[in-house]
Amino acid sequence: MLPALRLATPALRRHHALGGLRLLHLSAARSAGGGAHATFQAATLQKSLTTSPKPLKPKEDLVFGHTFSDHMLAVEWTTRDGWGRPQIKPYGPLQLDPSCSVFHYAFECFEGLKAYRDAAGKIRLFRPEMNMARMNDSASRLYLPQFDGAEAIECIKELLRVDQRWVPDGRGYSLYLRPTLIATENTLGVHRAHSALLYVIASPCGPYFPTGFKAISLYCDETNVRAWPGGVGNRKVGANYAPSIKPQAEAERKGYQQILWTIGEDHELMEVGTMNLFVYWRNEAGERELVTPPLDGTILPGVTRDSILELARSWDEVKVSERKVSMKQVAKASDEGRLLEIFGAGTACVVTPVRRVFYQGRDYDVPLDPANPESQAGPLAARVYETLQAIQYGDKPSKWSVVVD
Ligand SMILES: *Cc1c(COP(=O)(O)O)cnc(C)c1O
Repeated sequence: MLPALRLATPALRRHHALGGLRLLHLSAARSAGGGAHATFQAATLQKSLTTSPKPLKPKEDLVFGHTFSDHMLAVEWTTRDGWGRPQIKPYGPLQLDPSCSVFHYAFECFEGLKAYRDAAGKIRLFRPEMNMARMNDSASRLYLPQFDGAEAIECIKELLRVDQRWVPDGRGYSLYLRPTLIATENTLGVHRAHSALLYVIASPCGPYFPTGFKAISLYCDETNVRAWPGGVGNRKVGANYAPSIKPQAEAERKGYQQILWTIGEDHELMEVGTMNLFVYWRNEAGERELVTPPLDGTILPGVTRDSILELARSWDEVKVSERKVSMKQVAKASDEGRLLEIFGAGTACVVTPVRRVFYQGRDYDVPLDPANPESQAGPLAARVYETLQAIQYGDKPSKWSVVVD
């Protein structure tokens, strides 16, 4: 048994008792570290640039997560001194001891966001403060240090200025950013980490659907559970992902592209692979409803999910709900012709339409666009996709899009 997480500071204890998320992080970090720096400051950023910049790949040849830009952002932290000065330095290997705690107990959390190039050539981020807030929530759950998200965004903007030639242009193209936080302490003891490293790497990538939407099929997994009440399914911690690979491979072997994660006897819907899940249907009361599972601690609070909910509510055309829905109910809706669309949502794809779900021995078909049999996306998924992309690429003005000056 691993020892239970002890909440060492009054601020953290209070914070957990309140069930709140963000408010007390910085004061907790400060009291834990005495006079240590509770956050790093973009104003103190140091740069050492590469003398051998890499050639750019033709953008059509980019494979997701395979190519990395010239530089990375890195900030070190220790309990004694708190955060150090942020550094931009050449992309390259980390040197870590084999005993390093990240290798043994999965002391790791991460984020994923993209930098887009708009029609005027400017670089834009999409709601980056949400990624930073979520990273602090993930860090807090691993008892890793938190930081001021606004300072981190300023540092990321500077990385983007340095590596701006790595942001490809064109709809669908972007520079994927991967903020990562790891414990770096060289000890096998299962306890709080006393040193950590935050780094951000950048990977140019192309459209998720290079030839237009491609609707996917899902395998409803009745054996493996991705997340559970009281677990860490709502945090982007690396430990959530390695155990999903084998179930995913088994689903693929059976001819399905992604896992539909469920929980409980009625198979309550959770997520699709590493995406949030949306069901659009005529519900039991006969209303048109867009529904996604609520943030009850088992669901990753996606930035795309949140954005879709806000957009759909502003359109005010269908009922929008965050509530539990079971696969049993969806299967019944399919049999009764009430199912309209299912799609996954996340930064990588924006939306991924679903055309089929395997559940308890049979396939349930999901309509795409009844008006157009050739279409690979339902009208609602297509509208969400177009609207979010227009905002991300700066074609539609929105407070969500942040320009990197
Ligand atoms: C990252 C992630 C999502 C999507 O989050 P976005 O912020 O929209 O990219 C959904 N589910 C899981 C499990 C994830 O890891």
